[in-house]
Amino acid sequence: KEIKQAKTIHVLDEATINKIAAGEVIERPASVVKELVENSIDAGAKSVKVDIGSDSKGIFRIRVVDDGTGMDRDSAVLSFTRHATSKLSDISDLLKLHTMGFRGEALASIAGVSKVTMITKMQTIDVSPGTKIVIEGGDVLDVSDIGAPDGTSILIENLFFNTPARKKFLKSRQTEFSHVHKAVQNLALANPGISFQLNHNGKEKLATIRTSNLKETVAYIYGGEIADQLLEVKGMTPYMKVEGLCAVPSKNLPNSRDIIISINNRSVNSVSLSRAIKRGYGTLLPKDRYPVAFLNIILDKKIVDVNVHPTKREVRLSREKEIEGEISALVKKTLESGDLLSSKNPVA
Ligand code: ADP
Ligand code: MG
Repeated sequence: KEIKQAKTIHVLDEATINKIAAGEVIERPASVVKELVENSIDAGAKSVKVDIGSDSKGIFRIRVVDDGTGMDRDSAVLSFTRHATSKLSDISDLLKLHTMGFRGEALASIAGVSKVTMITKMQTIDVSPGTKIVIEGGDVLDVSDIGAPDGTSILIENLFFNTPARKKFLKSRQTEFSHVHKAVQNLALANPGISFQLNHNGKEKLATIRTSNLKETVAYIYGGEIADQLLEVKGMTPYMKVEGLCAVPSKNLPNSRDIIISINNRSVNSVSLSRAIKRGYGTLLPKDRYPVAFLNIILDKKIVDVNVHPTKREVRLSREKEIEGEISALVKKTLESGDLLSSKNPVA
């Protein structure tokens, strides 16, 4: 007869925890890109460059380079530790949080399932050199001095090398790249004040130039033809400000992919808000056609919780129904006024 062995409870080691957490935060190359670019935005970058390398086996290189604040050596090393974040130090910060999230998990998770080479240099007047850190599967292989421009460059290789199940789940390189493209596009539209560049195997796939005019960003990404058929959306309630652009009904599309919504400048997924925008078009659009629209919704921080979902794509809103109603009404009003945005009247 078999004797049952007593099970002992033990605490998972850091590497295992990071691997498990990476499963939640990092689904595919596009999630890596999103996390890294959001960090660049948080670091005050004016320019963010994303470089993807792929071959028949998939995406083998992701590089994000920014000209943001950079990090000194201690912060750089610490940034790969779980729950290390410069964005939250105590609970009161939670209430005034303006950044992309504060979980402090992304870098630790990414480094747990790939090989990361970070080069970073803090924007300072002194001449201390930059720092290079190499981490593979969570193990720090190298920390050294390196000459570097101000800002941060992060190179990801061997993504999911130690999580074969996750790796197997990846789609073709075209599909994975299209997710990356979409992620960068959304981030660029949510942040017209930052120049974005996306290259794939040396070819430029997307480029925007920093501007205060969202219409210009739309023109960089979608071309002038759509950009010239946009109406300005602008509205305000006591707890919400909505700004953006929506296209005339004739510029409709067969899917809702080009309804792009950001909340407090973060690109988010919201089926209900997309539906609210479509509802604003009413019968101007056939049932199976969708508008082109870009809305940035600035909400009182008290009614939005960006940290609900590990990948931070979904946000929790209180007063959701009310907000949907306001958005539908605003879109409807915008279409009725029908004034095409002239180039002399740019969106500020
Ligand atoms: P979070 O963004 O939730 O704080 P991350 O794991 O994404 O967690 O990043 C950890 C910390 O590393 C950030 O809080 C920030 O201080 C620092 N950091 C990460 N990326 C950059 C960057 N590109 N430039 C400057 N600092 C960065
Ligand atoms: Mg982050």
